[in-house]
Amino acid sequence: MIFAEQFDVIVVGGGHAGTEAALAAARMGQSTLLLTHNVDTLGQMSCNPAIGGIGKGHLVKEIDALGGAMALAADAGGIQFRTLNSSKGPAVRATRAQADRQLYKAAIRTTLENQPNLKIFQQSCDDLIVENDRVVGVVTQMGLKFRSNAVVLTVGTFLGGKIHIGLENHSGGRAGDPPSIALADRLRELPFRVDRLKTGTPPRIDARTIDFSVMQAQPGDTPTPHFSFISKDGCHPQQIPCFITYTNEKTHDVIRGGLDRSPMYSGVIEGIGPRYCPSIEDKIVRFADKDRHQIFVEPEGLTTHEVYPNGISTSLPFDVQVELVHSIAGFENAHITRPGYAIEYDYFDPRDLKPTLETKFIDGLFFAGQINGTTGYEEAGAQGLIAGMNAALQVQDKEAWAPSRDQAYIGVLIDDLATLGTKEPYRMFTSRAEYRLLLREDNADLRLTEKGRKLGLVCDERWRIFNEKIEQVAIEKERLKSNWIHKDHPAVDQVNELLKTPIAREASLEDLVRRPEVRYDDLMNIEGVGPANSNKQAAEQVEIQIKYQGYIDRQLQEIAKQQKHENTEIPKEFDYSAISGLSNEVIAKLEDARPDTVGQASRISGITPAAISMILVYLKKQG
Ligand code: FAD
Repeated sequence: MIFAEQFDVIVVGGGHAGTEAALAAARMGQSTLLLTHNVDTLGQMSCNPAIGGIGKGHLVKEIDALGGAMALAADAGGIQFRTLNSSKGPAVRATRAQADRQLYKAAIRTTLENQPNLKIFQQSCDDLIVENDRVVGVVTQMGLKFRSNAVVLTVGTFLGGKIHIGLENHSGGRAGDPPSIALADRLRELPFRVDRLKTGTPPRIDARTIDFSVMQAQPGDTPTPHFSFISKDGCHPQQIPCFITYTNEKTHDVIRGGLDRSPMYSGVIEGIGPRYCPSIEDKIVRFADKDRHQIFVEPEGLTTHEVYPNGISTSLPFDVQVELVHSIAGFENAHITRPGYAIEYDYFDPRDLKPTLETKFIDGLFFAGQINGTTGYEEAGAQGLIAGMNAALQVQDKEAWAPSRDQAYIGVLIDDLATLGTKEPYRMFTSRAEYRLLLREDNADLRLTEKGRKLGLVCDERWRIFNEKIEQVAIEKERLKSNWIHKDHPAVDQVNELLKTPIAREASLEDLVRRPEVRYDDLMNIEGVGPANSNKQAAEQVEIQIKYQGYIDRQLQEIAKQQKHENTEIPKEFDYSAISGLSNEVIAKLEDARPDTVGQASRISGITPAAISMILVYLKKQG
């Protein structure tokens, strides 16, 4: 049976990757179908209801700069906002929001339902229609066939999903949702490299059974930060605090006593879990010398009593979970509303992807999100946007695009995946980016919005706000450059109070802002010097651009040097063994990764600058 409609792009899965993919393709004018198991779980946060954090916040801002939905939904659903690393340099500052799970989901669903060119349909996708190595549609559980020019698969942890609690296990995509078995079997028939990963989640607790008086409260920041460049003050719901408590020796004894029934430590789970987001049993085993571990007690929302104890993710048997929870200060009488569990699932080696996230073996088939071995809503959303956008570009017969490593964390993420692959759930850290000073949260819009506009991803309103900011930055920088404080200026004494060394003869406001001890706002608060630019984002930008100009210029020079060879292409069938001087190990690595460019080759671990030089010399000779 052929369903009445043909689509340009079909996106399978309504999680974080799928929603951004579907929205991106539809924003670019393609008729798009979002096919998902359950319309009620669109935008569902499988684990912690929080968006952002170090590295991840950068991704959210970049998704926003390209017109995506995640930042606006986080602003609409966020109930506690913080700027992490606020005392450090702007490169590593990161926004994090604790979200009301329901408000976040509602915001995503409203956005999807109001997106022109997008249709939503609730059904499981059980099969792909592939003709001559090109995907041309999908088949649903009911046998409906939808045809399309491109398909984006964003099925998260659902492929062959197996849920573990202690030594018990059952099939599931996440708690309460069915797994994707038929689709997993179908994908295993295709020539992709498949493996298993695992992730886990803690038990949830009823707040009415928690003694918060023994915990430390952690309010959000004031003024409350925004995620989206286009959100206005007042966009957030009521703000409430999180709390902090700790595990103790008794907790650790309980966990050690249950390890023989842990699926992780008894060999039942084969998939590899995230090293940097370990389960509590992992922490006790790996950091045996630590006598306590921090737990953030985070509300799940404004209208629920459930809380998320961040830090005790576990797949230990339920009786052990109850005992370990009760051993923690404040949780002595806690009622568990949902058990913690681990989930194992299929993922596909992302080295089988092009930088556009199209698969190398099936034309028109794109993968995005956890299916590519990543973990996290932000990593998923970022990939979804790029995959949906490239699916749309392909349908339009236009050149593909993905940001480069010096342009965006999204570029770092995709390049790492497609070049290096991953053996454990991949998450973003600022340390993964070599050009951190350029890739800041505050300038994500300056880096990406213009490109997003050209691609058709950015709406008129965002474009207007963006241009206004650019103009404000330019006007203010010019004003600072051309206004001088002379020794006889009426405000000179007040200005000197801010300085380590007073003004000798005269100084421009730009020179003064450049001084490390001077804060732009303090300087502008002085009568006759200010007022500060009323556009807060523009003011922040002016201060950062002036203060860090020297470092930024140096990083730009470095990039220019690297870029000389970054995009030098390596032919598909390049014979590395023909280069005398390359070790067998290096040849094996290059043959395995088959990098498209010299830049990609240089980032494969174990590929030395000397090896790169040899490849360049050889390519030149062949050239
Ligand atoms: P998902 O959000 O999983 O969405 C997949 C979507 O696809 C769902 O809507 C599903 O219904 C749909 N779907 C699946 N198969 C089909 C099909 N055949 N047909 C139609 N629709 C289909 N991340 C962290 O950063 N930190 C953590 O601590 C963490 N812990 C986690 C714990 C658990 C138990 C789980 C399940 C996930 C955890 N994650 C964690 C991961 C995070 O939830 C994911 O990285 C993120 O949700 C991935 O987004 P996605 O869009 O790729 O997939």
